[in-house]
Amino acid sequence: MRPLWLCRRCGHPWPCGAAKVALSAEYRDSPVSLFLYLASCLHDAIDDLHQLHPNDTGNTANVFDRFLGWPAQHRSRRPPTADPQTPEET
Ligand SMILES: [Zn+2]
Repeated sequence: MRPLWLCRRCGHPWPCGAAKVALSAEYRDSPVSLFLYLASCLHDAIDDLHQLHPNDTGNTANVFDRFLGWPAQHRSRRPPTADPQTPEET
């Protein structure tokens, strides 16, 4: 939901939890494409948010983390060669 960059469904800052899950699933095989997509979103969001809050210049790092930080954290948590998904507890 631009230019506020809130989730249309839950109203949380995008990408919210559900959006991250959906994006992770959608780009599971192409994390680079996910990064590129998020980077373009980040770029737009910084422009939009800057126009909304012209005096608020301290948030760029936070916005960066919000858009691009989570896939990196997600990936660093799991070694890439570990067994992908073993649904043991279902
Ligand atoms: Zn949401």
